[in-house]
Amino acid sequence: MKFRAPLAALAAILLAGCAPATDDVYRALIVDGQNNHRIWPTTTQYLKGYLEETGMFSVDIATTPPAGEPMDSFRPPFSEYDLVVSNYNGDPWGAEAMADFESFVAEGGGFVSVHAANNAFPEWTAYNEMIGIGGWGDRTERHGPYLRLRDGAFVPDHSPGIGGSHGERHEFPIDIRDTDHPITRGLPTRWMHANDELYDRLRGPAKNVRVLGSAYSTVESGGTGKHEPILMAIPYGQGRVFHTTLGHALVSQRCTGFIATFQRGAEWAVTGEVTQRVPEDFPTADQARGRPEPE
Ligand code: ZN
Repeated sequence: MKFRAPLAALAAILLAGCAPATDDVYRALIVDGQNNHRIWPTTTQYLKGYLEETGMFSVDIATTPPAGEPMDSFRPPFSEYDLVVSNYNGDPWGAEAMADFESFVAEGGGFVSVHAANNAFPEWTAYNEMIGIGGWGDRTERHGPYLRLRDGAFVPDHSPGIGGSHGERHEFPIDIRDTDHPITRGLPTRWMHANDELYDRLRGPAKNVRVLGSAYSTVESGGTGKHEPILMAIPYGQGRVFHTTLGHALVSQRCTGFIATFQRGAEWAVTGEVTQRVPEDFPTADQARGRPEPE
């Protein structure tokens, strides 16, 4: 952590209601280096820009060696950061880096998992507890249940089957399922998300997952005909994890709904609170809205 406990408490007081001074920013680390999405160097820059735009974060990037190469050299100093954002989906890290990351979150670090980061590490137990549910990597019922909407709440469903799929890309509405969480408080209860993959049938340990937002996966688009968890908040030890399944393409990550929930999720993962206002250009129930391509 950047702040020792008394300083963190002082910072929380100073931060109340206003953006922090530039030398009081939280330290964020984006991890990348391998991904089935070849645009990962660009999405890392998008995510970096969105964090910096809040005025709350300074951002470093830790890039792994390419796929198939030894991972020993990848050992970021996680404990020097307040927040880790994963834009990584690739080879397992070395045992020391994995242990460092587990300690970082367990001891109170914030973690944000973006889109295909939830495909990574199917056999890393702690990582799957952090993200709650994930997809692909030969995930099956052996990895844990689905989360399915029953009587207004997402509950474990241990039906056998694959973990992770999606239909055709399209615009789809996000339904906020929990209006009393710092990340979602004040957001429209339904908003249209830009063209993206709607991940379905994710499964995992699914412990203590608070589903903040979901989307209905239509059979017509090649989906499940079920409501799928999209935005999630998960406690892990003393740490907090925000998990967004959104963000396949650049247009998906330029959606104002993606941006605002990512920024709010990042702040919450670090502080447990959200001080940011909902942007004026947030999407409406039937109109997706996005930002222009950065220069
Ligand atoms: Zn994707």
